[in-house]
Amino acid sequence: MLDKNTQQILQLVQQRCQQKNLRLTSKRSNVLQLMLDENKPLSAYDIMASYQIYFQESISVVSIYRMLNFLIQAQLIHKLLSSNKYLVCSHITCSHVHEIPQFLICNTCHQVEEVGIGKSLVSELEANIVSTGFKLQRQQLELYGICSDCQHLQ
Ligand SMILES: [Zn+2]
Ligand SMILES: [Zn+2]
Ligand SMILES: [Zn+2]
Repeated sequence: MLDKNTQQILQLVQQRCQQKNLRLTSKRSNVLQLMLDENKPLSAYDIMASYQIYFQESISVVSIYRMLNFLIQAQLIHKLLSSNKYLVCSHITCSHVHEIPQFLICNTCHQVEEVGIGKSLVSELEANIVSTGFKLQRQQLELYGICSDCQHLQ
């Protein structure tokens, strides 16, 4: 049984994909559903294993990677480059323009908070990088630390 919240998110995402001519097939939607339910960063192998449990169907890791790439292109999920794990975009139901994401990753509980970076800070960063002659290809920041919940437990 689908969580009501997850179901609403999936319906909304399905509508948006149709408007943008993106084919959110049932398998792609299933991957998104399990990622929403798990609510934590998962590797492609974690997703493959969960897919089998959730939907009683085995899917090759190659197909999982393809589906994840589609979901990234559709701006529904993100890939954490430092850990090779995937997580649902926390703005998945928003209609505003997506800012450059900054991921605050807790070293203790591994929860990730997605925080947009303000425009002025981004242009400052870009100016700083351009001055070195470096060409930036992918913009995303991943910062490690201890979340406020875990700080209270210490
Ligand atoms: Zn996002
Ligand atoms: Zn938002
Ligand atoms: Zn934590």
